[in-house]
Amino acid sequence: SLIRPAMSKFWSPLVNRLTPYVPGEQPKLPNLVKLNTNENPYPPSPKAVAAMQAEIGHDGASLRLYPDPSADRLKEAVAAFYGEFGIGARQVFVGNGSDEVLAHVFMALLQHDAPLLYPDISYSFYPVYAGLYGISAETVALDGDYGIDLSAYRRANGGIIFPNPNAPTGRLLPLGEIEALLTANTESVVVVDEAYVDFGGDTAIALVNRFPNLLVVHTLSKSRSLAGLRVGYAVGHPDLIEALERVKNSFNSYPLDRIAIAGAVAALEDRAWFDRTRNAVIASREQLVSDLTLLGFQVLPSAANFVFARHPGRDGAELAQALRQRSIIVRHFKAPRIDQFLRITIGTDEQCGALVAALKEILG
Ligand code: PMP
Repeated sequence: SLIRPAMSKFWSPLVNRLTPYVPGEQPKLPNLVKLNTNENPYPPSPKAVAAMQAEIGHDGASLRLYPDPSADRLKEAVAAFYGEFGIGARQVFVGNGSDEVLAHVFMALLQHDAPLLYPDISYSFYPVYAGLYGISAETVALDGDYGIDLSAYRRANGGIIFPNPNAPTGRLLPLGEIEALLTANTESVVVVDEAYVDFGGDTAIALVNRFPNLLVVHTLSKSRSLAGLRVGYAVGHPDLIEALERVKNSFNSYPLDRIAIAGAVAALEDRAWFDRTRNAVIASREQLVSDLTLLGFQVLPSAANFVFARHPGRDGAELAQALRQRSIIVRHFKAPRIDQFLRITIGTDEQCGALVAALKEILG
């Protein structure tokens, strides 16, 4: 039958209690305007592509061998990229996408007697990890403008995690507010998930050498167009990194394959490509914000590669459905306070143009 069981006597009690994450749709149909999972519309660095092809070579001989379990080349490339902040390779942890890095973070650093705090409207994987590892957690409501009020997190002593810019709102916290939180709260691990920071924010990696309780998590899925390669990393004090390494070595000592390591290193080294594509995405975002505003949408200020927008006269779910009928896929969340919004990934100018034309037609 197509109906899958909700629980089973053969499953562990933990799995019976677990509400799994539902990944954003990856449609099998071709020719869709796919603006639903915050991928980059531009290809990755040609140097990254060449490095991956070189790693495979003519006969794939290198693939007989296990990869470097600690991916030292990649850690050095990350450290070099943030050289201006004095980051060393011992301050870097790498994993198979930032989702896997985050899973290890929850297990290694966020399991305490006191509750973990995170925003009520945020990355929906956080409650799943908390459930998976039996971590007690409390959500903190966003303010009236859908922003994170960090003063509400000063009381935490069981850990803090939030994305910056936040997802799915796109709203950015200035670095000064994160610094103020770290100054006020030296007892909790503070994890800043910067999946989208390259599209308009300042990275908190600038602060890790001053605050040993700060861990910053990044991904190559968004600003480096490598969602399909699955590479993420974390930067923090060597003691935090050591905890992550212990969990990783007890879970999968080879999380990154040889091709991923080669491609990720070359992508990090190609700063020119990185700047070109992220600047193109930022320019398209500004254009899309202005086009949506002209159509009557209320658009939250975004520092990400997506915008979060609602139309006062139209239901969010209906708008998403009407777009889908026109082969344009955006993300809609059936969640309190945000069910009137659409989360729209920034595509090429052509894709954004198709979206705006379709919305014009739908709105009449
Ligand atoms: N953090 C946030 C806030 C995200 O939106 C995403 C993307 N879904 C991730 C982490 C995970 O990205 P990835 O596993 O592709 O690195």
